[in-house]
Amino acid sequence: MPLMTMRPVTRRNAVFGITMAAATLARPALLRAQSTARVVVVGGGFGGAACARALKRAQADLQVILIEPNAVFTSCPFSNEVIAGLRDIEAQQFGYDGLAAEGVTVIGQAVTTIAPQQRSVLTTDGVALPYDRLVLSPGIDFHYEALPGYDEAASGKMPHAWKAGAQTLLLRKQLEAMADGGVVAIAIPANPSRCPPAPYERASLIAHYLKTKKPRSKVLILDAKDSFSQQRLFERAWKELYGDMIERVALSQGGRVTSVDPSTRTIITEFGNYTPDVANVIPAQRAGRIAEIAGAIDATGWCPIDPVTFESRLVPNIHVIGDACLGGGIPKSASAASAQGKACASAIVNLIAGRPPETPRLTGICYNTVAPGYGFSLAGNYQPRGDIFAEVEGGATSPVDAPRELRAREAAEAERWFQTITADTFG
Ligand SMILES: Cc1cc2nc3c(=O)[nH]c(=O)nc-3n(C[C@H](O)[C@H](O)[C@H](O)COP(=O)(O)OP(=O)(O)OC[C@H]3O[C@@H](n4cnc5c(N)ncnc54)[C@H](O)[C@@H]3O)c2cc1C
Repeated sequence: MPLMTMRPVTRRNAVFGITMAAATLARPALLRAQSTARVVVVGGGFGGAACARALKRAQADLQVILIEPNAVFTSCPFSNEVIAGLRDIEAQQFGYDGLAAEGVTVIGQAVTTIAPQQRSVLTTDGVALPYDRLVLSPGIDFHYEALPGYDEAASGKMPHAWKAGAQTLLLRKQLEAMADGGVVAIAIPANPSRCPPAPYERASLIAHYLKTKKPRSKVLILDAKDSFSQQRLFERAWKELYGDMIERVALSQGGRVTSVDPSTRTIITEFGNYTPDVANVIPAQRAGRIAEIAGAIDATGWCPIDPVTFESRLVPNIHVIGDACLGGGIPKSASAASAQGKACASAIVNLIAGRPPETPRLTGICYNTVAPGYGFSLAGNYQPRGDIFAEVEGGATSPVDAPRELRAREAAEAERWFQTITADTFG
């Protein structure tokens, strides 16, 4: 009997038709005897929610199950504006009723185990769900081993704010509590990292807050990179808007953070120690932990995929999208995750029907807002090349020497982009 999918799933109806886990996980053969093909999507962020929705839209009789522990998703894009006091966190939050209304079965649990041989996942409450195809979009987790002294407890004192929600609010609170004349340090890891330009957008918007409320303060960027995305645009804007309020120590100047001491809020680099008033430490990242449990990550900490189908190169019938996959030239962004989610849905529908998947061409755009009414963007197109995505012709970056009207227009476009992508993803 197929799952009922026309309303939000409660704990009771979530397990309807699903085997409670005993000693073993249910087998897919049982599933196929009961119903049409089932696709389970793990993670209801930009990639997973877009994929689940696209699957159901592409094939209405497909069973699509989205598993996500949070009833409300809090978006990272635009969370830098929350940190700067320009926006409420509620404007960042989206529920799953829209997906449920379209026939996606939404289960409010985390996946704890994946058994690829049995093609089954196990959720926190001990329910086993068989799948024909599994999509993983768990986003990132932190590579704490790479930064001695930093762990989850340390993030309570030196927030990363690299997953939106409580961490975003904590960093905001620390900025509000800081006295005028204080120093805010932002420690930035090397790539690959979630949304490479976002730390610099954050530095800009914090500078905007300080300029308007605590003008004697400074922003210190400690950077594990020498160059970064849209650098000339950022540096031009910093000079124009913030004078010498933002100071950046690049990799070759000793900017790479080697360890931290949360008890004294000290940041240690190869060339010296810093004890800022507010320490925003963004650790290095890797694919969300569940991808590792699935056996889908390689030595890089990310998931190698076939970029045509997004199927894992390591585990059959598991597809990985969004920040967790090894995308090559495509940046780890909400735009990319959403585009990958849709392309992956199309590939899965074709694979299930026995048709060859189409080669995707993905489009992404990344806006940066460096002050209210001052934005710029980078747009790119990407296609599979070998095992990764490579950028192809048709991309565009905002000109460095642009009039303020263009910057204002791009800031307004950024807001429209956010409304469009969140409506498109969550309904
Ligand atoms: C400060 C900041 C600003 C950004 N700004 C932009 C921007 O302007 N534009 C842009 O395009 N991108 C931006 N990004 C990047 C963007 O947020 C990510 O690239 C995007 O969210 C990736 O989507 P995803 O689906 O891979 O992961 P996510 O959106 O993080 O979703 C992952 C989901 O998986 C769930 N999950 C994890 N493990 C499990 C499990 N075991 N079981 C079930 N569920 C699980 C999580 O709860 C989460 O909801 C920004 C990022 C940051 C940090």
